[in-house]
Amino acid sequence: MSDDQEITELLGDGIAEELRKSVHAVADALPGNYRFNTVDLSYETRKKGARHLYDEAVAPMHRTGIGLKYPTATVDESPNAVLRKLLKFSVIHRPISTIPGIKTNFTGKIDLDIVRVATGGTYDDPGQMLGDYAAVSLRVVDRKTCEQAAQYAFSIAMRDRKSLTSSSKFTIQRVTDGLFEDIVDEVSREVQYSGQIEHRRELFDALLAKLVMNPEPFQVVLVLNEYGDFLSDLASGLVGSLGLGASVSLSFDDKGRVSVAMFDATHGTAPDIAGQDKANPTAILLAFSMLLAHIGDTGPAEAIRAGLFDCMDEGETTGDLGGPRGTESFTQALIARVRNRLEKSK
Ligand code: ATP
Repeated sequence: MSDDQEITELLGDGIAEELRKSVHAVADALPGNYRFNTVDLSYETRKKGARHLYDEAVAPMHRTGIGLKYPTATVDESPNAVLRKLLKFSVIHRPISTIPGIKTNFTGKIDLDIVRVATGGTYDDPGQMLGDYAAVSLRVVDRKTCEQAAQYAFSIAMRDRKSLTSSSKFTIQRVTDGLFEDIVDEVSREVQYSGQIEHRRELFDALLAKLVMNPEPFQVVLVLNEYGDFLSDLASGLVGSLGLGASVSLSFDDKGRVSVAMFDATHGTAPDIAGQDKANPTAILLAFSMLLAHIGDTGPAEAIRAGLFDCMDEGETTGDLGGPRGTESFTQALIARVRNRLEKSK
């Protein structure tokens, strides 16, 4: 457990302030001593032209290796895009699991960690016309980024004792997806992972079918950029929670170790409900729980996650999920459950 852990938090717009209060209230109920260093990235502040704000955000994240970002409005520029560039994020990790009490069409149980190469593929090249009747775009698969993604995916599989599936169209895209799968194999043979983690390959189309028919065997899934994009939304849809997701963006040092991890909620700023005590803080709290797991505070991380699921299971939810609670009273209901969970785990 950290003695005094500095957490850089990037304040945003809309419901961001309410989410921040909820995170702080939960952090105060934990045994660790978490000290938040707040950088205001709200549009109000950004529009004053304070470019140095981004330097203020990036410097402590480089120093401590972590950050928690609240939703920001994209007006003149996208803070997410600016941060991605400045911090050189190349991999995104998005856990997606079945949430008790959330109504879904799908009845299978999903518990997936999607690790996605976040650059390259076809997404960095808008393409060009070949005369009037055809268009072409370049698809880039970069060795270094694949190695970083694979190292990270194996490290979380190791940490959480999970199996790892890499997925692509390696029988069709033999060179590009073949390179990706070769790199994954190389990493799987490294001393610390060899024989420790079950690794298998799946063709991406087969993976989608198997996920829908029998999701349980899939735990950590490692994919290239486009596949990750499709898979994240498919899996979120299956668990009925497009708005409850959290993710982490990662950059790496020369040795392939994570250098900066920035955690955030996948939903936006929800300006329509800002300041009304209606915001659901679940996604940002799941992001905070991921941050704690990342720094090794696994007990508090698990207590928050389990506490959130206890709330959902018992119908203690905010209005967007049909429950009776406002942001503040939901946070208090959660804190009681987090305390219970911490007590039980002693
Ligand atoms: P942005 O432009 O920042 O993406 P948006 O309103 O277009 O904002 P979201 O913020 O994702 O997109 O909101 C979509 C809908 O979901 C809105 O009606 C919003 O109120 C609701 N919503 C989003 N996040 C939450 C949340 N945490 N709690 C409750 N409702 C939410």
